Amino acid sequence: MKVITTIGDMKAVINKHHHQTIGLVPTMGYLHEGHVALVTQAKKENHIVVMSIFVNPTQFGPNEDFESYPRDFDRDVMLATEAGVDYIFAPSVTEMYPRTSSLHLHVGEMAQTLCGASRPNHFDGVVQIVTKLLHIIEPTHAYFGQKDAQQLAIIEALVRDYNFPVIIRSVPIIREADGLAKSSRNVYLTPIERQQAPVIYATLQQIQNEVWTIAEGIAHIEKVTTGKVDYLTKLSYPDLTKPTAETTAFILAVAVYIGTTRLIDNVIWEVTSCCAQ
Ligand code: AMP
Repeated sequence: MKVITTIGDMKAVINKHHHQTIGLVPTMGYLHEGHVALVTQAKKENHIVVMSIFVNPTQFGPNEDFESYPRDFDRDVMLATEAGVDYIFAPSVTEMYPRTSSLHLHVGEMAQTLCGASRPNHFDGVVQIVTKLLHIIEPTHAYFGQKDAQQLAIIEALVRDYNFPVIIRSVPIIREADGLAKSSRNVYLTPIERQQAPVIYATLQQIQNEVWTIAEGIAHIEKVTTGKVDYLTKLSYPDLTKPTAETTAFILAVAVYIGTTRLIDNVIWEVTSCCAQ
């Protein structure tokens, strides 16, 4: 396993692997089993796996947790090595953004809902960094978690609409034993908040199974936790529009502020249109 910190060195390594398949796993580090699942999938499908570790400032709002985002590079190197990563690309902020960009990528409608509604410009920052990573590393495959389902849908649209020569692969959400979706931000939770947090996924399941309405789900989360629901919404997936009678694939997505921590989770499912007579 080799750690690479400059774009020039990364490109030189990629040139060496020109005739092989390359799987890219973009992350912000502070690795957990969710990231490892992406690497495992990438290893199955590629000769070489590159993991990027970069806390991207352009996807954080001015009052968000860019400065305090958890970082532990030595531990990440250990976990990535164990998982079978071949190269870590870990550039500095000035390496990635040496000057103010003279043009900006802007995500349309798909970024106006769910997390995009409360994090303006977040997804513009995401497509900016993902575009740069895809151009620097030129992977044949890139791996994203369904945990960030809106991000996944937007990246798929970016690649489709602008003909990026890469296959986007998605990986299901990895959860703790009690159902809480694994996240680098879970370390922010106090012991009491951590005990309450599995209610989020349990509530999604109750709504998906039509035991509760969305309003009942929101009320339940706010009653049995100290959390405040930012959104709990059912949309069609991956287009992220209001479901219609024709919709066959759905996302039920939630964001909850528990204390100062913002947790997100979702379930995605399809209904098969049935029953020719
Ligand atoms: P992050 O480091 O949080 O930006 O995440 C890097 C990648 O790992 C993204 O594609 C995430 O969707 C994915 N990821 C994060 N947590 C999970 C999880 N619990 N299960 C599956 N994928 C995840």
